[in-house]
Amino acid sequence: MEEIRYKEKMLYSRELHPDDTIVQAGEVSIGRGGFAVIAGPCSVESESQIMGIAEAVKEAGADMLRGGAYKPRTSPYDFQGLEAEGIKLLLKAKQETGLPIVSEIMDAGNLDLFEDIDVLQIGARNMQNFALLKAVGQTDKPVLIKRGISATYQEFLTAAEYVLSEGNPNVILCERGIRTFETYTRSTMDIAAVPVLKQLSHLPVLADPSHACGRSELVGSLALAATAAGADGLMIEVHSDPKLALSDGRQSLTPQQFAELMKKIRALTGALNA
Ligand code: PEP
Ligand code: MN
Repeated sequence: MEEIRYKEKMLYSRELHPDDTIVQAGEVSIGRGGFAVIAGPCSVESESQIMGIAEAVKEAGADMLRGGAYKPRTSPYDFQGLEAEGIKLLLKAKQETGLPIVSEIMDAGNLDLFEDIDVLQIGARNMQNFALLKAVGQTDKPVLIKRGISATYQEFLTAAEYVLSEGNPNVILCERGIRTFETYTRSTMDIAAVPVLKQLSHLPVLADPSHACGRSELVGSLALAATAAGADGLMIEVHSDPKLALSDGRQSLTPQQFAELMKKIRALTGALNA
């Protein structure tokens, strides 16, 4: 019978694994000083949209491209994503730009379709979908888990444990804001999550300022704050025409705004490593 693991013996903990884990996504290393910026639209909308954004974020210095093909929307009447066609377009963008791809998987039945997707994203709403966590834990692909909308650090880390305990060590954590009494911002970015998770765990910790604040004019400040707090990278939504975006336009940076922010992120990471 398998030994019961107590908190300090969890696979995510530094007790068992004192050194920072590095997760490799294609050529990109995340963790232990490998700072990775993942950028792209909330949803893949069309071939010209994803190709144009992919080229632009690459040019600005992004390390990976994001784009949702399967979208977990609050309302069933909202755009649900291009699904298989969206995955096809992401792979085309990967071929053109060489950028590894991050995309959300909502159903373990789609794992075959995601075979050439580099990083499987588990969205905030699925952070405790244990069947899905176990299924991605049975692959050897990098898994990026977003913090649940009202998940404690412990719940977040034990969600990661589901993937690790199935034998997949390639787990990346992503703080994306939590629900609080404040309504001005979409969620409340929990900056403390970055150092806390890095103290409790050896896994790389990213921050997603876009979903945390829901307002493009705040994304830059939060991105820099999370970087200064020690994040191993960022996930940022970018759209060439945010007003026309089929999802999350209000929080999306234009490619030009993203390029300006990348200069500041580079200056900051340079200063932190000096
Ligand atoms: C997303 O990345 O577009 C998304 C839906 O994120 P979250 O699961 O953090 O809300
Ligand atoms: Mn989004």
